[in-house]
Amino acid sequence: MEEKNDSCKVPDLESLKEKKPTRLVFMDYVSGKPVDERVLEAMQPYHREIFGNPSSLHIFGDPPVEAMEDARKKVADLIGAKDPKEIVFTSGATESNNLALKGVAFRNQSKGNHIIISAIEHISIINIVKYLEKFGFKTTQVGVDKYGIVEFDKLEKQIKPETLLISINYANNEIGTIEPVKEISKMAHDHNVLLHMDAVAAEGQIPIDVQKDGIDLLTLSSNDIYGPRGMGALYIKTGTMIEPIIQGGGQERGLRSGTEDIPSMVGMGKAAEIAKKEMKKDSARIQKMRDRIINTVLDTIDRSYLDGHPTQRLPNNAHFRFDYIEGEAILLGLNMRGIAVSTGSACAAKRLEASHVLLATGLLKEEAHGSLELTLGKYNTEEDVDYVLEVLPQVIDRLRKLSPLTPKNEK
Ligand code: PMP
Repeated sequence: MEEKNDSCKVPDLESLKEKKPTRLVFMDYVSGKPVDERVLEAMQPYHREIFGNPSSLHIFGDPPVEAMEDARKKVADLIGAKDPKEIVFTSGATESNNLALKGVAFRNQSKGNHIIISAIEHISIINIVKYLEKFGFKTTQVGVDKYGIVEFDKLEKQIKPETLLISINYANNEIGTIEPVKEISKMAHDHNVLLHMDAVAAEGQIPIDVQKDGIDLLTLSSNDIYGPRGMGALYIKTGTMIEPIIQGGGQERGLRSGTEDIPSMVGMGKAAEIAKKEMKKDSARIQKMRDRIINTVLDTIDRSYLDGHPTQRLPNNAHFRFDYIEGEAILLGLNMRGIAVSTGSACAAKRLEASHVLLATGLLKEEAHGSLELTLGKYNTEEDVDYVLEVLPQVIDRLRKLSPLTPKNEK
C-alpha cells in the first residue's frame, strides 16, 4: 500500500480552472513552490501579535530576537553549519549570490582579482561577475562535460596566484546534475582559494553538509524549500572575510543592514526544519515518480533523450530533448491540456534563447531548442504522472506530424 505522506496535501488549484478547463498538473517546481501550510502557520503570529523590532531595547524587542535566532539555528542545522552565526539572512538567492561574490571580491582586492565560475551557473552569477569586471576583476568560465559535470583538470589549470574565489552550483537548476562537491572543495583549498556554491536547486532535496563538503560560502533560498518568497540566506564560514554590499543600520552583524523581516525568517526556519525532517521520505517518493516519467518517455517516445547525468542528478529533475520539434511548442501543447512545465530557467524563458547550460554541455542550438524540463515537487501525485504520461506522447506526436523537420517516413 502507498504510504500516506502528511506533508503532501495537494494545494487547491480550483481557482485556476476557469482559464484551464482540463485537469491541472504543476511540474515546474524549479520556478516556484507553494508555501508549506505549516510554514504559513508558524509565520502568522509574527505579522501582528509579535511585531516588535529586534533592535528595540524594550520588551517588545525580545520575542522577535528569539524567533530570529531560532530560525537561524534551523537553517544552520539544515546545512550542517557549525554555528548559527554563520547564517546571514538576505532577500533571496540573487542577493546571497551578490553578497558572496562581491563581498569576497571587494574585501580581498589587495590579494587578487580573479574569480572562476562554471559555464552552467545561474544568470545571477554570470551577471555579477560581468559587473565585477568593470572594477578590474577578471573571470574565467570553466566548461562542463556532456552531463554537466565541471571539467576538473581544466578547473585546476585555471587557478592562479591571484584567484580569490571559485563559484560553482551545488547542482544545476536546469539539467539537475549534481557536482562532485568534495573534490571541487579539496582542489580549491589545496590552492588556498575560497569556494562558493549556489545550492538553490539542491537544498531540501539532497543532504548538504557544509563542514563535510568543505564549503566556505553557500547560497540558499527560502521558497526552494517551500518557505516564503523574498527570503534567502548566505552561509559564511567563520573566518571568511567579506565586505557588506548593503550599508545601513548594521543588522545581521553588519553584513546585511535593514530592519529584519521576522515573519519570513521564521518561515524560512520552519521550512528548513521540515526539510531536514522530511527530505529523505519526500525525495524518495518524488524520485520514484520522476523515474517512472524518465523510463516511460525514453522507452515509448522515439528520438527522445535525457539531458544531464543519468544518475548524479537531483531526484525531482527530468530534462528531455525531442528531435524535430521545439521545447516551447511542447510546453504550449502541454499547457493547453493543463500541464505546467518549463524549457529551462524561468529567468531566461521569455527571451526564447537557447539555454547556455545546454550549449555548455555540447548541444547544438537546434538541439537545445528541443528541450523540456519537468521538475516535480512534494505535492505531485502518481495520478499527475499518469496524466503527463498520457498527454506528453500525444502532444509530441501531433507536433512531429506538423513539423517540416520530421522526415516523411517518421510522420
Ligand atoms: N540561483 C539559482 C540556481 C536559481 O535557480 C535561482 C532562481 N530560482 C536563483 C539563484 C535566483 O533566485 P531568486 O530569483 O529567488 O533570487
